[in-house]
Amino acid sequence: MTLDEILKEIQEAEKIVMLAHETPDGDAIGSLLGLKLGLEKIGKKADVIVTKYARTFDFLPAIDALKTESDIKKYDLAISLDCATIKRLDNREYFENAKKTIVIDHHGSNNMYGDINYVNPVAPACAEIVLSMLSYYNIEIDSKIGTCLMTGIITDTGGLQYPSTTADTFEYASELLRKGVDIPDICKRTLQTKTKANFELSKRVMDRLEILENGKIAFSYITKKDLKEVNAEEGDHEGLVNIGRNIEGVEVSIFIRQDDEDEKMYKVSMRSGEYVNVSDVCLMFGGGGHPRAAGAKIQGTTEQIKTKLVNETKKYLKWFWGRSKKSSNWITFLINAF
Ligand code: AMP
Ligand code: MN
Ligand code: MN
Repeated sequence: MTLDEILKEIQEAEKIVMLAHETPDGDAIGSLLGLKLGLEKIGKKADVIVTKYARTFDFLPAIDALKTESDIKKYDLAISLDCATIKRLDNREYFENAKKTIVIDHHGSNNMYGDINYVNPVAPACAEIVLSMLSYYNIEIDSKIGTCLMTGIITDTGGLQYPSTTADTFEYASELLRKGVDIPDICKRTLQTKTKANFELSKRVMDRLEILENGKIAFSYITKKDLKEVNAEEGDHEGLVNIGRNIEGVEVSIFIRQDDEDEKMYKVSMRSGEYVNVSDVCLMFGGGGHPRAAGAKIQGTTEQIKTKLVNETKKYLKWFWGRSKKSSNWITFLINAF
């Protein structure tokens, strides 16, 4: 079984490195630290390389152990967490130079780029996969490991709210709560508390928000200039895409953010409410993600990118309407079919 093979590789490796996707979120950082601490319980040390992360995660146990660089050529084993493709992997040269590679992930768009791939698209967070792995290996999950992994679960499920949350997730949460993991504190730190810069950016996103396609698509953006004016730091854009998604009637929220280094490049974030598979929309632009949360990188001006994304998204709105419960209303059906 894959999990046994993974344990064998970990036990045989002398030097292990762990990596996650660029601009790491709570699931990426939480999975890395949770697995690192878990492996320490069986006497295995691992280096975790992360270029930069949001200071929201400073409260996590072992956060100080994160490194920004090491000797690229020294690793027997590289483990990638929460990352669908090697293109998105932060510090991928460590992965490319390692003798053996393992991918642990929950993205449906994962293209299995490791020697061993353990991918479960039904898991709501990569951290939940790590949690199930550690349990399978009979590694004791203490409150420190639990805090890291619960942070991954809380951030990727919006506080156990998204439909991706399963009965297993609640069971894990209840076990961790019993072990002393402070779940309300994690929710407060990672979901409720906003930095001042994030708050200022929210105002701009709201001001510019456009509601398109009969109220079904919301679009907004921020530029490099905005980020500079509000003194934005790493992670200060997190959650801005939800402003559009939370408006009544909106099915798809599109939020784009200008790249720091390349002015022509925008980072796209998409979220959907009930039926549009935004991962499919993003795949059309070389990105990917999950059915209800996905991303991509696109070159162009805000207007050009808006047009491209709205035109692609529209196809999915129309397709669904033809088959929706509302199609019993024949007038609505005919209007939307043509
Ligand atoms: P974000 O909007 O950045 O929070 O990302 C939402 C989801 O889409 C996450 O699961 C990401 O891993 C995934 N994602 C974001 N950007 C990309 C990209 N450029 N390529 C593939 N997946 C992405
Ligand atoms: Mn992630
Ligand atoms: Mn994730």
